[in-house]
Amino acid sequence: MTLGNMENVEVFNAEGKGRGLRATKELWAGDVIFAEPSFAAVVFDSLSEQVCHSCFRRQEKLHRCGQCKFAQYCDRTCQRACWEEHKHECAAIKKYGKAPNENVRLAARILWRIEKDGGVMSDGQLTTLDELEDHVADMPEEDLKELKIDVHNFLDYWPHGSRQYNVDCISHIMGVINCNGFTLSDQRGLQAVGVGIFPNLCLVNHDCWPNCTIILNHGNQTALNPLFHTQRRIELRALGKIAEGEELTVAYVDFLNVSKDRQRLLKQQYFFDCACQHCTQQIKDDLMMGVKDVDGKKPSEEVVKEVTEYSLKTLEKIEKARTEGNYHEVVKLCRECLEKQEPVLADTHIYLLRILSVASEVLSYLQFFSEAAEYARRMVEGYMKLYHPNNAQLGMATMRAGVTHWHAGSIEVGHSMICKAYAILMITHGPSHSITKDLEAMRMQTEMELRMFRQNEYVYHTMREAALKNKPMSMMSEPVQEGIKNLFRKK
Ligand SMILES: [Zn+2]
Ligand SMILES: [Zn+2]
Ligand SMILES: [Zn+2]
Repeated sequence: MTLGNMENVEVFNAEGKGRGLRATKELWAGDVIFAEPSFAAVVFDSLSEQVCHSCFRRQEKLHRCGQCKFAQYCDRTCQRACWEEHKHECAAIKKYGKAPNENVRLAARILWRIEKDGGVMSDGQLTTLDELEDHVADMPEEDLKELKIDVHNFLDYWPHGSRQYNVDCISHIMGVINCNGFTLSDQRGLQAVGVGIFPNLCLVNHDCWPNCTIILNHGNQTALNPLFHTQRRIELRALGKIAEGEELTVAYVDFLNVSKDRQRLLKQQYFFDCACQHCTQQIKDDLMMGVKDVDGKKPSEEVVKEVTEYSLKTLEKIEKARTEGNYHEVVKLCRECLEKQEPVLADTHIYLLRILSVASEVLSYLQFFSEAAEYARRMVEGYMKLYHPNNAQLGMATMRAGVTHWHAGSIEVGHSMICKAYAILMITHGPSHSITKDLEAMRMQTEMELRMFRQNEYVYHTMREAALKNKPMSMMSEPVQEGIKNLFRKK
């Protein structure tokens, strides 16, 4: 089956993994294999007042729908573009008296969409929602209980005058949302803000070392093309050369977990046993759990165990302090932990990298740029030894490290990192993505500053100081709690 913009792929029977997608022709790094608009999507309950319900951008100021008083939009353009999707929901929320939770809202949006357009939206859709896995039978008791409550609430919320569905049908939709709901990020790609269903994407199987990546493109906001502005679509992009007939894969979970942890996560959340090469051969596990080795002298097993356990406990404390917005406490915990980790753990140990990541993020938010830059550099050096060279997380981390160096006044390192990040994001995000565009602007700016710096270091620093005095450097964005670690959302 090769239809619509799906001519680069075909459905096949992937041995041991059910259906899968494979390439119908040779593909190269950065190729958009297919793009798919969301079948339906909703903003998370927790962010319903901070994110536009149409374009999923985070905004300072949003305008509420006058009818239901629930939906929020950037402006009239966003509201109008979303009306078709919202109109039944708007009436239902008014009648129900409040907005139900995100699962119920998404299930209803899916069914309204099916009623309007039928189960298959376009020639390019390779599967129907009926055919997607729901894994209701595999669910643990606890989750099943929640699913039943959602089904019950759905039946109350769903308008009585509309076509009625039985409990099995609603359970199936809830199950599909649970295991196939794709996490939508904000425009900076840093925070998970909503969940959506993309049927073709559901056909792409997992591999811990995948040959593709998925990126959400919010579209470009232009006055000339107001409709394009609200397009939410995902793109499946090739990370390297892919041969004709090769299976296309993406990573459902972050690679920076040892193989047995990734396998456990995948089993828990997606109900399969990962048998990818990196899991079966435990590739890079030794680096991720590596210990310091100075001229063949290694710390004792006992010390390693103690520091590992201490790190895990500290990471929990850090998470709590971060959620409470207690950033000075976060910094204190990080510094203490690094002091213990440094003599014992290797530079690629994932617990060390996790601390470096939090420390650099929070310190640059607090404008301690020099210390933040040092941690960010070490984090990126560790990531480079672990991640696929075109991994999107690596690209984003390198970008962050580059910006931090730039703010710290290390223009040479900053510019070089921004260039490296740009090269990765051209492949993972593509030239039209808003993050890539921001990065390109920074690349040009830092290139100019670097030229100035090389011509006359003294003049450069004087100008920089004057500029800083005039206009304090804009704050780095506040560290977000709900980062994006998993491709598909799981509660
Ligand atoms: Zn908007
Ligand atoms: Zn409304
Ligand atoms: Zn694996």
